[in-house]
Amino acid sequence: MKNLTSLLLLLSCAAAFGQIKVSTDYEGANAILRKIDGTDIWIKPDLRDTEGWWFYWNMEVYGAAGKKIRVFFENDDAIGNQGPAYSLDGGKTWAWLGADSYARPDKSRKSAYFTHDVPQGVSSVRYCFSIPYTLKNFKDFYGKLEDNPGFKMGKLATTLRGNDNFYVSIGNRDAPVKIVMLARQHCCEASASYLLEGILAEVMSETPDGKFLRENAEIFAVPFMDLDGVRAGDQGKSRRPHDHNRDYSPNPIYPSVRAVMERCAKYGVEDKIIAIDFHCPGWRERKSYFYYPANPRLSKNVARLANMLEGKAKAAKGALPYNTKNDIPYGSKSYNSSNKSSFRDYINSLGNAEIATTFEFAYSDTLGEVFTPQKGRNFGRVFAQAIVEYIRSMEEK
Ligand SMILES: [Zn+2]
Repeated sequence: MKNLTSLLLLLSCAAAFGQIKVSTDYEGANAILRKIDGTDIWIKPDLRDTEGWWFYWNMEVYGAAGKKIRVFFENDDAIGNQGPAYSLDGGKTWAWLGADSYARPDKSRKSAYFTHDVPQGVSSVRYCFSIPYTLKNFKDFYGKLEDNPGFKMGKLATTLRGNDNFYVSIGNRDAPVKIVMLARQHCCEASASYLLEGILAEVMSETPDGKFLRENAEIFAVPFMDLDGVRAGDQGKSRRPHDHNRDYSPNPIYPSVRAVMERCAKYGVEDKIIAIDFHCPGWRERKSYFYYPANPRLSKNVARLANMLEGKAKAAKGALPYNTKNDIPYGSKSYNSSNKSSFRDYINSLGNAEIATTFEFAYSDTLGEVFTPQKGRNFGRVFAQAIVEYIRSMEEK
């Protein structure tokens, strides 16, 4: 309590004397502060246990109301297509600062910066590489559905850092179709969480597709596979000794991975697993896409779902677009063949896989459409409708 009081005192003094301060004292925060010189701030992403470079950062600036600030990335360029995301209400709502908010004067990765005219009267501004999605976001979503007896939340595992990780399950346990969905195996990939939330919203809805899914499938989802990293603001990608999505081996090191493998191994020979692992692609990729597996039969199944998704996305209003032409077939140049012991490889190795794939959901814009949380959720609803079409086509086969 004493520390909190002195922090608040420090911050209010800083604001009173017009000094700018940077805080990373909240869930999901990440930045190494190099220096502050007047209204110029120098930071870089805190890589922690990441092998190689990555781009996630998230910080809160105090004492900047009414000022034009510049934020420089020291020997780095961790700014996405739409500039940083920013929040004037302590992380409740977010928008993009915009494509004209940043500059990269010498085209190298060494001099990127963004500029912001901070409005008068705000106590702080949060800035992040992309629009965050935290445990609180999921709890707010879940809170609206809590009274629904069909929507269950259960303990998945105690994580390495002692967090209780959880899954949600919905639907018909006796149905042979088992839908398994994961997000945040790489904890920084927050945009994908809006997609997953949209799918779950559709599943829980009273629409014909929602009812169909609850009657004809058992749905199991883990919203935060790397919950420790989500809370701590880690990168998660290429975490040493390996990240969550390289852990689907006979001896997984992450308890959440072990629990997902145990769950999936229990499905029966007659069951059909539809497994989708939601990620975000490279930091400035402007497209969303599937990875197709090596097995020709399973690859065809993913292609069928992809075609259905493209059709639904074209017909939908207010959702982000998707086009199958950006998908990555097995063996193509962009196929990441170092992706060993991934979730999708693990499911594809089971005899009862119907679909096992990764879907990469762009951070900031897709085929000319800028990402917003609502458009991300709407795309999730469209995704759920495509899964319904796919399950119906399985029955016809
Ligand atoms: Zn990823």
